[in-house]
Amino acid sequence: MQLLDGKKTSETILDEIKVEVDKILQQGKRAPHLAVVLVGNNPASETYVGSKIKACERVGFKSTLIKLPDTIDEATLLNEIKKLNDDTTLDGFIVQSPLPKHISDSKVINAISPDKDVDGFHPENVGRMALSMPAYLPATPYGVIQLLDKYKIETSGKHCVVMGRSHIVGLPMSLLMVRNTTPGNCTVTICHSKTKDVKKYTLQADILIVATGQVESVTADMVKEGAVVVDVGITRVPDATKKSGYRLAGDVKFDEVAQKCSYITPVPGGVGPMTIASLLMNTLNGYKRK
Ligand code: NDP
Repeated sequence: MQLLDGKKTSETILDEIKVEVDKILQQGKRAPHLAVVLVGNNPASETYVGSKIKACERVGFKSTLIKLPDTIDEATLLNEIKKLNDDTTLDGFIVQSPLPKHISDSKVINAISPDKDVDGFHPENVGRMALSMPAYLPATPYGVIQLLDKYKIETSGKHCVVMGRSHIVGLPMSLLMVRNTTPGNCTVTICHSKTKDVKKYTLQADILIVATGQVESVTADMVKEGAVVVDVGITRVPDATKKSGYRLAGDVKFDEVAQKCSYITPVPGGVGPMTIASLLMNTLNGYKRK
C-alpha cells in the first residue's frame, strides 16, 4: 500500500505557484488577489479559512478576509458579493460554507460572478466543466484529480465508484472522472443515501472515492483488493485525549482498508491540503486570464 500524500503534493504545487508569482512580481506587476468571505464563527470554517489565508501568504498572493456576523441578512450578503464582483483589484473570491440557515446557498452561489468563482460552484462553471470547456473546477474534486495525476494513477477504462452526490464534491467528482481527459475516462458509478446495497458497487471499484461525511463507515469488506481509495471526508470527532478536544476523522476506516488497497489518502493530510492548492491554482489562472 502506498499513501497518496496530499500534504507533500500540495506543498509541491504551492512551490510551483510561488515560482510563478515571483516572476510576476519581478516584472513589476501586481500579485494575484483572493478574497475569502466568512459568515459567522463556525470553528471548522475558521480553521479552513485560516489555512487558505496562510497558503496565500506562502505563495505571495494578496489575500483579504471579510468577516461578517451570522446575523447578516441575505440581501446585505448579496450586496457584499456584488461589491466583490465589481472590484477590479480582485481575481477571485469564495464564500466559505456552511452558511447560516436563513441564507440560501444557491442564491449566494448564483450571485458570484462566474469569472471570479474560484470555488467553481456557479452553475455556469459546473456546466462548462461537464462539457469539458475551460472553467474553474471545484476545488476539492480538482484536488483529487491533481493527486491522482501526480501519483500517475491509471484511470482510463477503470471503474470509479463515487460515494456521495453533493454539488460541491460527489457530483462534480463523478463528472471529472468520466470526462475524456487524463485523469478521467473512467466508467463511473455514483452511490448516495438511497442506493440499495452500496457494497455491491464499492466491491467493483478500481478507484473508490468516498465523500459521504459518514465517519469511518467504509470498511475493508467493502473494498476490492488492490483498489485506489480516496477519502474526502473530514469530520471533527470528540476526543478527550487531544488538546483540542477532537480528532479529524475520514469516511474510511483507514487501518483496515489500508491493508487491502494499493493506494489510499490519509485523513488529515490527504484531500484537505489538495483542496487549498486547487483554490490557489484557480486564482492564479483567473489572474492570468485577465
Ligand atoms: P454532504 O452531506 O453535502 O453530502 C453527502 C453525500 O453522501 C450525499 O450525496 C448523501 O446522499 C451521500 N451519502 C450519505 N450517506 C451515504 C451512504 N451511506 N452511502 C452512500 N452515500 C451516502 O457532504 P459533502 O459532499 O459536502 O462532504 C462530504 C464529506 O467530505 C464531509 O465529511 C465533508 O466534511 C468532507 N469535505 C472535505 C473537503 C476537503 O477539502 N477534504 C471539502 C468538502 C467536504 P444524499 O444525496 O442522498 O443525501
